[in-house]
Amino acid sequence: MSLHRKAQLLVVITLAALLVIMYVILQAILLHSYTQLEQQSVENNVERLLNRINDDLSILSSQTADYAFWDSTYAFVQEYDNDYALEMTPETLANLSLNLTLWMNIEGKIVFHKTIDLASLRDTPLPTGLVDYLAAGSPLLRQPADKTGVQGIMMLADRPLMFAVQPILTSAQTGPAVGTLIFGRWMDAAYIQQILTALRQDVTLYRVNDPLLPDDARSALALLNGETTIITRPVDEQRIQGYTLLHDLNGSPALLLRLNMPRAIYMQGTGTLVYFLLAMVIVGLVFIILISILLQRTVITPLAKLSERITFIRQRADLSERINMLGKDELAVLAQNMNGMLGALDEAQQALKDANQQLELRVAQRTAQLSDTNDRLREEIAAREQMQVELAQARDQALEALQLKTQILANISHDARTPLNIIILRTQMLQSERQGDINPQQREMLDSILVNARQLLLFFNNLLQEAQLKVDKLQVKNVGFAPAALLDEVTALLAPLAERKGLTLESTVAPDVPTRLIGDPDKLSQILTNLVENAIKFTEHGSVSVHILRADQERWALQVSDSGIGIPDDAQSQIFDTFWQVDGSVTRQIGQGVGLGLAIVRQLTTLMGGEITVSSQAGTGSVFTVTLPLHKDTWYEPASIDN
Ligand code: ADP
Repeated sequence: MSLHRKAQLLVVITLAALLVIMYVILQAILLHSYTQLEQQSVENNVERLLNRINDDLSILSSQTADYAFWDSTYAFVQEYDNDYALEMTPETLANLSLNLTLWMNIEGKIVFHKTIDLASLRDTPLPTGLVDYLAAGSPLLRQPADKTGVQGIMMLADRPLMFAVQPILTSAQTGPAVGTLIFGRWMDAAYIQQILTALRQDVTLYRVNDPLLPDDARSALALLNGETTIITRPVDEQRIQGYTLLHDLNGSPALLLRLNMPRAIYMQGTGTLVYFLLAMVIVGLVFIILISILLQRTVITPLAKLSERITFIRQRADLSERINMLGKDELAVLAQNMNGMLGALDEAQQALKDANQQLELRVAQRTAQLSDTNDRLREEIAAREQMQVELAQARDQALEALQLKTQILANISHDARTPLNIIILRTQMLQSERQGDINPQQREMLDSILVNARQLLLFFNNLLQEAQLKVDKLQVKNVGFAPAALLDEVTALLAPLAERKGLTLESTVAPDVPTRLIGDPDKLSQILTNLVENAIKFTEHGSVSVHILRADQERWALQVSDSGIGIPDDAQSQIFDTFWQVDGSVTRQIGQGVGLGLAIVRQLTTLMGGEITVSSQAGTGSVFTVTLPLHKDTWYEPASIDN
């Protein structure tokens, strides 16, 4: 939707809303005051009606007084002068607009009466019920002392009667009163017609006890009471009605007076409202047209021009173009700001172009540098590759040399072990005295030979083992064995060594260790021998103890503890390296080994899927723990009776 259309729509909506609001407000205020005015007018007219009836009653009262305060009447009532009575002809009554006249003496006796029909001037009978009103003691009957009369409405059987009562006095209005004079007039259709003609009002009179009372009159009757004397009620858009009550001489509601009026005031109000709204619509339309023209000239056309110019600049992509717009309004300011922005963009674009050129230059320089570096790197890589080839060759040669060395070492160890075994065997035979008795000196010498030979054998065993480990020749066996027997075997072998140094050698097997396990007893024996031998070797006083225990549900352990020299903290991580010793100097004691024992222990342990740890403190002693996976020999020890 264009801006022009939007602006028009906005004005139309605002105007429509204004009209609706004005209509609601005017209806509330204007029509309300017109309605009040109308109600006031109806009430005034009803009061005029009432005044008219009261005026008629006053006239009736003064007519009665004219006749009652008169010497002739005074005499007639006492003397019954028929000639005087003859003056009260139907014509006389009609002239006075009277329907009834009744003359009574002071005793309450009717001395004369006449009732006529005003239309035909014929005599009619005394209305029924009237005599009841005039019975002895009635407030209507004048007493000798009375000087004033009574007037009002009397509800007789067939119709209401407007009446006036006066005491009969002399012409000088002196008493005592000698009777009562009553003048009456029917409040019938003729009377209403008379009022209607006089006041030019549409009036209806209902008896309140009329069984045929219409609904509107009945409901109005219910609302009228001591406080509300007049009520008004619109019938429709054209007519409104006003109601009031007339009371009889006893003060009881007797007649309901209904006034029917056209709603001239109200219709004038609605007419004013319509004219006002019509005027507003016309003013609004003029307003819309004016606003439209003004908007078009001052905002929309310049805005369209601005938009056109911006589109032109965008299409040409030429930031040096500018927008020309004269004036000092917001649109001119906007155009100026846009020109400023175009200038800034132009500058920025130029700066960007320069930066781009510089960047391209730098990229070219860097590319050239990179290509140089690349060439250099390629040369370096080629040199390194060459170096790697040479290194690989050197490594292969070294490996070959190692292999050869290991092979020689293995051969030596193997060849040395045979004569050593023979020496041990022969020494043991000599010790057993099967070849003849030996003296204690000889026994000691034999012991010494045996211990040293065993140490030498262990050393060669280690050398051989290491050589085999190097060439991956070692195979792990999986056979059943008794841990306790294994322990006994090793301690028996090394006990003499401990004894010679005056050390106690203890060994225990924890009760939760299965009696038989699956594993490689030879390798386990070598592990244990190496560890116990080290413990004896590096302990001067105290004891060496060996435990076989259960590490947890799935593992068991060999633990060798001593009270020897211990291992300094910084050396503990290195003792498992091949040919490594804490004291690697040439001054160390002879027969202290070559630093292979623990390396072999670790390799064998790893080979069997276990691990070795050491906990030691220099000067206090060491504890070596070899933990291994637990495989029970179920052939001997079924799982059901296991701990
Ligand atoms: P060696 O043949 O020298 O005993 P090992 O590999 O068995 O070689 O031991 C390496 C070094 O670890 C030993 O030289 C020794 O310094 C140290 N060592 C090993 N066991 C103990 C121990 N129980 N107490 C103190 N030091 C030990």
